[in-house]
Amino acid sequence: MVKAIVGANWGDEGKGKITDMLAKEADIIVRFQGGANAGHTIVNEYGKFALHTLPSGVFYSHTTSVIGNGVALNIPILSEEIRSITDRNVPAPRILVSDRCQIVMPYHILFDQYEEERLGGKSFGSTRSGIAPFYSDKYAKTGFQVNELFEKERLKEKVERICETKNVILEHLYHKPLIRPEELLETLHQYKEMIAPYVCDTSAYLAQALKDNRTILLEGQLGTLKDPDHGIYPMVTSSSTLAAYGAIGAGIPPYEIRQIITVCKAYSSAVGAGAFVSEIFGEEADELRRRGGDGGEYGATTGRPRRMGWFDCVASKYGCRLQGTTDVAFTVLDVLGYLDEIPVCVGYEIDGEVTTDFPVTAKLEKAKPVLRKLPGWKCGIRGIRNYEDLPDNCRAYVEFIEAQIGYPVTMISNGPGRDDIIYRQSPLNV
Ligand code: GDP
Repeated sequence: MVKAIVGANWGDEGKGKITDMLAKEADIIVRFQGGANAGHTIVNEYGKFALHTLPSGVFYSHTTSVIGNGVALNIPILSEEIRSITDRNVPAPRILVSDRCQIVMPYHILFDQYEEERLGGKSFGSTRSGIAPFYSDKYAKTGFQVNELFEKERLKEKVERICETKNVILEHLYHKPLIRPEELLETLHQYKEMIAPYVCDTSAYLAQALKDNRTILLEGQLGTLKDPDHGIYPMVTSSSTLAAYGAIGAGIPPYEIRQIITVCKAYSSAVGAGAFVSEIFGEEADELRRRGGDGGEYGATTGRPRRMGWFDCVASKYGCRLQGTTDVAFTVLDVLGYLDEIPVCVGYEIDGEVTTDFPVTAKLEKAKPVLRKLPGWKCGIRGIRNYEDLPDNCRAYVEFIEAQIGYPVTMISNGPGRDDIIYRQSPLNV
């Protein structure tokens, strides 16, 4: 049985917490896309952790964590992350890294920085983790798979060949120091030592696990709107954020993915550039940012303040549809308890017409939000475990949004902890 946990929007919906919670009943947790450019924040009995590469299940001793072939693997960051959790008394996790996973090279990170500098004000708001140059090279077929680290002669020859083309760009486009092949080769030898204990054929491992009826979670990074095909191109990430890609990025049959849990946050936040129709500004945004998440809405990787907005039914309905949602996990609902009225974006006005269909980027940039105000519930809801015990206005908020997006809300998260969850039988799937 495979379950995917993915985001409906711009990321930071609380996927880490939901994965961590579901990992209790799972055997294997797989990262299948993305890299160390975004993070998950997890709160558990060991403390508060920001993970960038490791899946959220690493804190359980019964689970195996898999870095699938679709991931952009930053080896020093992975090593550091493993150390950072074992240093804080978390038992050493069982980690497997796909031998087909490709490596984020030091020059990918540099190219990311140089390109953002070159673009100046027109930049994409990259986290400068090397993700776009990495995936460009992967699909240009000039990337390095982990298994290549173990082929000494081939590696040397390939490093020399790749450096020739990279150095032309460094010299003539960016006017930056050139890469020295022997130095790069030395770095890659160190990478080999760091990663060797974890490398295997993870798709064969997962095939066997499926035969043995194990429960596998696919943990997505970012959300639908950052998908390179279906998101707000070009302000997207460079690997697919959709559950469907989980089959490719983990190396499993697509029909094995039985449950797709799409995480939606009770309000919106986004990082990086790009249209954000329900965005709010000034004191209204500052207050939501301060109160949001667990200790404020600031990037887990970058510390950047997130852009804030009201819940967007248009974007979320689209986000859930592209994921193939079977269940919505509705998170961070506890944060909204301070508001007298809660605006919700129920449509986009584009060139004088109102639509509830999420448009292509050129139209999205012209969209103005159509807001509807729902009454607030004006109290704390943490600690509540039964749906019926939530205040009337709070249930009305959940049910209004469920009706607008058209997918069943079966989980409601009302706090950052593992146990802050309300399960619910949705009328949409009775
Ligand atoms: P991810 O990238 O989708 O995993 O999202 P983040 O790591 O940015 O998670 C959002 C933040 O919200 C984290 O700090 C979580 O601890 C926190 N969080 C998750 N669910 C809830 C919730 O229901 N209530 C509150 N207050 N915080 C939550």
